[in-house]
Amino acid sequence: MEGFYSPDPVFRMAARQFELLADHLEIPQQFRQRLIQPKRAVTVSLPLERDDGRVEVFHGYRVQHHLSIGPTKGGTRFSPVLTIGESAALAVWMSWKCALVGLPYGGAKGGVSVDPNLLSPGELEKLARRYMQEMIPFVGPRTDIMGPDMGTNAQVMAWFMDTYSMHAGHAVPEIVTGKPVSIGGVSGRRESTGRGAVFLIERALDHLKIKPSGCTAVVQGFGNVGSVVACGLAYKSGMKVTGISDHTVCLYDPAGFDVAAADRHVTQHRTLKDFPQGERIPADDFLTLPCDILVPAAIERVIHASNASRLRCRILAEAANGPTTPEADEILDKRWDEVFVIPDILCNAGGVIVSYFEWVQDLQNFFWTDIEMTDRLFRILDAAFSATIKRSKERRVSTRTAAMAIGVERVLTAKRDRGLFP
Ligand code: GLU
Repeated sequence: MEGFYSPDPVFRMAARQFELLADHLEIPQQFRQRLIQPKRAVTVSLPLERDDGRVEVFHGYRVQHHLSIGPTKGGTRFSPVLTIGESAALAVWMSWKCALVGLPYGGAKGGVSVDPNLLSPGELEKLARRYMQEMIPFVGPRTDIMGPDMGTNAQVMAWFMDTYSMHAGHAVPEIVTGKPVSIGGVSGRRESTGRGAVFLIERALDHLKIKPSGCTAVVQGFGNVGSVVACGLAYKSGMKVTGISDHTVCLYDPAGFDVAAADRHVTQHRTLKDFPQGERIPADDFLTLPCDILVPAAIERVIHASNASRLRCRILAEAANGPTTPEADEILDKRWDEVFVIPDILCNAGGVIVSYFEWVQDLQNFFWTDIEMTDRLFRILDAAFSATIKRSKERRVSTRTAAMAIGVERVLTAKRDRGLFP
């Protein structure tokens, strides 16, 4: 399916996944382009005066996939490899994710092509504010609501909110989610993606009739999501976390890591490099370590044609967006009775669900208790998990196909019901 974004390999992957699903659902050709091609996209150049006086120009993006049922929603990523095509793919996945869990949003994604670790705190603030300033004509609480993603955090969301609000002349907390609680954020947003993943892993174990205590887990990535998953599996589910990693190092310890110590190390030193426990292993061997639960919680396309047949886990819990390529899916489909997949659009949906709660509360200026939020989060995830399993069994398809089918069908129905504006 050719289009503006097709030169990008990550977008080609999202488009390929969709094409396979559209064939499965027998979606008429006339709807396919309308469903997959993003509605709007913008690229901006962001001049930044560095601390040494040089002016450097960075590139920023935002892609809004569809606006058929409400505003778009999705994270803002600060990553050196971010492109408009990758943003578009991530926006598409956000759409299927929001639809699967019943949120009234289309998907969006964007950010800045930059390594935030190479900026001083002052430079990071200037770049974040400049990005939001450039996005003002394009976003809004009823158009497109940003949230955190890789390389951004509550502080960056606060700068976004402040920049937008200064322009509006009054506080607009509903423009972004994942903010500090003091300005309309909700407690637990940072942990929500990881907590949701842990809930679903326990749900999947229950479905497979396996007891969590005594299980082993390998977690790729130790950021906002991976660290919370590792701690949750170790301290809540009673598992042994035998593998942890980030972009600097992959570590293995069959005796199980002290993940709280790893978490403290990363808080102090930013990365796992020099963390004293465990054996360093090559990145290529990390995902094929023997374990019960494998959690990719970092970047896209890490499980592919050359390692999918060698995965040695019982459950693949995709906390990252797009970690598994369609070629790997073909292999995993054949291994369905060995590897149970919790697909990304389900496994990491906890984050955007809590973002939705934050947006609703900001719009209404009426705040819920933490218990209400946790209870609602787990109920939504539980229903989406059950619906996915039911469809997977009834139609004899993979859990990914089942989850995506539910999401895509909801978007298709909305587009059909609205009709085509002349
Ligand atoms: N980055 C989150 C995700 O990939 C969503 C961010 C948001 O809450 O909008 O699901």
